[in-house]
Amino acid sequence: MSVKKKVIIVGGGTAGLTIANQLQEYFDVIVIEKSQFKRYPLIYKIPLMIGIIFRDIKTKYLSQREFVLTDGRHIPFYESNVLGGASIINGCVHMLGNELQWESILKNFDANYEEIFESYGKLYSLNRNSKNKINLKSAHQNIIDKAFLKTLNQNKIPIRDMNVSDEEGCGPILNTVKKYFRTSVLSLVDKKHFRVAAGENVENILFDDSGKVTGVKTNLSSINSDYVILSAGVIGTCGLLLRAKHKNENILKNLVIGTDIQDHTNLRINVITNKNIGSLNEIYYSSYRKILLMFRHIFGKSTLMTGTGATSAAHLDLNQDGVVDTRIQIVQFAESGRHGSDGKYFGSKPGFSISITAINPESKGEITLEGQNTSINPKYLSSKNDVELLKLALKYCLKLLHTEPLSKHIEKIEDEYTIEHDPEKYIFNTIFSGAHLIGGTHNIINSRFDVKNTKGLYVCDASVFQEYAASNIHSSVVLLADIFSKNFVKHHFEPNSKPLT
Ligand SMILES: Cc1cc2nc3c(=O)[nH]c(=O)nc-3n(C[C@H](O)[C@H](O)[C@H](O)COP(=O)(O)OP(=O)(O)OC[C@H]3O[C@@H](n4cnc5c(N)ncnc54)[C@H](O)[C@@H]3O)c2cc1C
Repeated sequence: MSVKKKVIIVGGGTAGLTIANQLQEYFDVIVIEKSQFKRYPLIYKIPLMIGIIFRDIKTKYLSQREFVLTDGRHIPFYESNVLGGASIINGCVHMLGNELQWESILKNFDANYEEIFESYGKLYSLNRNSKNKINLKSAHQNIIDKAFLKTLNQNKIPIRDMNVSDEEGCGPILNTVKKYFRTSVLSLVDKKHFRVAAGENVENILFDDSGKVTGVKTNLSSINSDYVILSAGVIGTCGLLLRAKHKNENILKNLVIGTDIQDHTNLRINVITNKNIGSLNEIYYSSYRKILLMFRHIFGKSTLMTGTGATSAAHLDLNQDGVVDTRIQIVQFAESGRHGSDGKYFGSKPGFSISITAINPESKGEITLEGQNTSINPKYLSSKNDVELLKLALKYCLKLLHTEPLSKHIEKIEDEYTIEHDPEKYIFNTIFSGAHLIGGTHNIINSRFDVKNTKGLYVCDASVFQEYAASNIHSSVVLLADIFSKNFVKHHFEPNSKPLT
């Protein structure tokens, strides 16, 4: 029996674990993950409860860094410190996306949308009894969701599946949850035969003189392998490659790493309602309501516990060019200052917000090295078109909020005067990161995800995307990681296939 070739996967996150799970049968796989924690307390697996981590400044399960906007405002960006990466701390909002957008992404990898569908059937399920899948569940709907969807219907936006955005439509959102707990890439792993070196930070990539990868150097040791797959996320992978370029100028010299990174902006309109709607604002300030919610959840009732707040959505073509460009979502809380910026996480009155995401922004930024540290600047809203689209979205949302039946529930729209009369100021003052970083390595890889000028070095994570397939990126990363794994195995073992370099 031939000895299995050794594969190092750098990063035990969304892409890394999806790939390790697929490759373990064929290769000797080791996942090197810088986070020292292999799990977090069970309570955080209840989707709504993950919010507690973001509010706990002393938490060890998360790191926070700050991005600086052009006007000097600092906004937070969060990274997981637990095996599973962003997959186990994210907002659970699921979306497959738009076929045309997918085709555009996949042509760079000699793949097509049918393969995405195949992977989707293999990895995702709406049936909560399916095992080793990322299970999906429709979000709980309340009086505001019903009014929101009805108002949209009157505006000629029909009810559709919110998993796809090929056409305008609206409906309940899908979350990556089972009955009680979130599902993530960890749910995909049945029998784990790969090794995980947790708490080990990869500091550099090792090459021989011919440009063939020989392994990696971590903070603890050097580890040899036949192949290295970088799945350390946009920040981790770009940082590693920039450091490797610094050390191996001869091998990586012509590669432009860390350019054209992107993120969604997240813009919200906060709304106070004239009645109790079961929003998180009401629950947050009432122990009785908290206990009731927990009981309902334990008894399997549909509640806000199986999501992180977002419940219904609409896909809109606001610039009317025939392509859906914007997703708006009802979020079941209204903040009196984002991310606790005014000391409170929830407004004291019942309320909700509309969250706005421009699906394919044009603004692009970069990741650079400053000494040994990575500096990240997504250059949010540096494209005028992105600002104009958000202005259209604000206008559209105000119109919705003033139309019955939605308007019947509303007491006040926060900052309405600024939204209406100085939307640009409102946008620049209130955007936050959508937490969907992509790009940075898409210019330096070939169609087999291998890094140009090297042998045996691959990249597969959010950094290989040069555009968004959807308003949310988790499933895009999972599905592309599955396609990568399938092709990696095929090229390695099929005699007629061009061998791996
Ligand atoms: C707070 C938050 C909320 C989000 N909400 C949603 C949502 O609701 N819906 C959605 O679709 N998407 C959401 N996303 C986005 C989505 O989850 C991520 O874009 C996607 O999971 C990224 O996958 P990845 O494999 O590229 O990176 P990750 O999953 O981040 O994995 C990278 C891994 O590499 C490790 N690593 C990095 N550097 C090194 C190194 N040098 N050595 C060893 N290990 C290293 C990291 O610790 C991490 O575990 C959210 C993201 C965040 C952060």
